[in-house]
Amino acid sequence: MEYDAVVVGGGPAGSVTARFAAESGVKVIILERRTEIGVPVLCGEGISQRVDKWNMLEGTRWIASKMDGAKIFSPDGTMVSLSKEMAGNETGYVVYRDIFDQELARRAARSGADIMLNTEVTGLIKTNGKITGIKARRFDEQFEINANIIVGADGVESKIGKWAGINTVLKPYDLETCAQYTLTNIDYNSNYCEFYIGKKLAPGGYIWIFPKGENTFNVGIGVLASLSDSSLPLKLLNKFISNHNELKNGKSIRLLAGAVPVAKPVETVRDNLLLVGDAARHADSITGGGLTTSLQGGKIAGETIGKAVESHRFDKETLSIYETKWKAVFGTKLIRDYIVKEIMLDFDDKTLNMLADSLKDYKFEEFSTLSLVKALVLKHPTLLMRLKPLLKLTDKSLKKA
Ligand SMILES: Cc1cc2nc3c(=O)[nH]c(=O)nc-3n(C[C@H](O)[C@H](O)[C@H](O)COP(=O)(O)OP(=O)(O)OC[C@H]3O[C@@H](n4cnc5c(N)ncnc54)[C@H](O)[C@@H]3O)c2cc1C
Repeated sequence: MEYDAVVVGGGPAGSVTARFAAESGVKVIILERRTEIGVPVLCGEGISQRVDKWNMLEGTRWIASKMDGAKIFSPDGTMVSLSKEMAGNETGYVVYRDIFDQELARRAARSGADIMLNTEVTGLIKTNGKITGIKARRFDEQFEINANIIVGADGVESKIGKWAGINTVLKPYDLETCAQYTLTNIDYNSNYCEFYIGKKLAPGGYIWIFPKGENTFNVGIGVLASLSDSSLPLKLLNKFISNHNELKNGKSIRLLAGAVPVAKPVETVRDNLLLVGDAARHADSITGGGLTTSLQGGKIAGETIGKAVESHRFDKETLSIYETKWKAVFGTKLIRDYIVKEIMLDFDDKTLNMLADSLKDYKFEEFSTLSLVKALVLKHPTLLMRLKPLLKLTDKSLKKA
């Protein structure tokens, strides 16, 4: 088989990359090891309403509920609220992630991309040191596909980057281990995403409650792998639910376990190769959210592949347009939030309570982690010293990162 580009992984980053490449006239195929796109769901399913502006998804079938804001609870229960009224801009959706992923794949297919399921990519083909294709396995059959460009969209466990010689190793300090129940039969109404923080509650992470409508909520936890063993997230989540009056009688209709990279982005371009989404470590280090950057990065990657195919140039320099552009769109935010993650790890529960207390009546200008950081600095100028590395975020430091 011959293609211009092979995309490994049919998650959001892979489907969006394939769609925009196909729209530029590229002959592209998505290879996905699962038997159904988007299934099983491994996600809290929260996304910013900014997604509406990007023309990536049609209709509303993928939306489970629309949020009016977010509430953050400190260890002693002090609440900081970021509501639509206060923040004055878009908030979030909770989505059906299986339908969401399938909708993105459908758009890729409609644009001309091929999709092959139940197909695991097992290696890269290199000819005289140059990447010229992939090896794959489907049922008992082994086969190869030749292509000028390989896209690693293979998520948190990505191997494509490693096979191309990129250091994608995730240290326990840069990985959140997660567990989540979808609980139903809950007699509680809310249009707010709730976040609970605290060193004892969720070391190095947080607990979330995301409403999905119909008395159903995603209730999950992320814990930093360096501060936990594999059984801790579920133990802490069970404890939280049994102590929570509204949740404790809920019935579970889904339980999942997964991991999110909370690392600095890696090198994303080599000759004949790109990395996108979680494979590129594009998830946000504070929230663990990676959907918006997967969509934004995927679009840039697809368009870059279009230009490369048009000019018949597949070298690193040509493909670097992708890296320059994603850094311009969300690179600063990823590095800034990584630094804030490191600073927050030093805060004990007493400090978190104090900070929440000082922000509980604050009128936020916008709905973002940046507005939270700005408010903290305004209220606690001494924090500015600790946040100093943020001020040094220049193009040069980004290139280095
Ligand atoms: C518990 C949990 C909760 C989360 N909650 C949120 C949230 O609320 N909001 C948010 O924005 N983000 C959230 N995230 C993160 C979000 O799910 C990811 O950032 C997002 O899925 C990244 O998309 P992707 O396309 O890069 O990777 P993925 O969606 O992981 O897709 C990668 C695909 O590659 C396939 N694959 C892997 N290796 C191969 C191979 N060798 N051959 C073929 N196929 C392969 C996989 O099967 C998979 O389908 C959460 C993550 C977890 C684990």
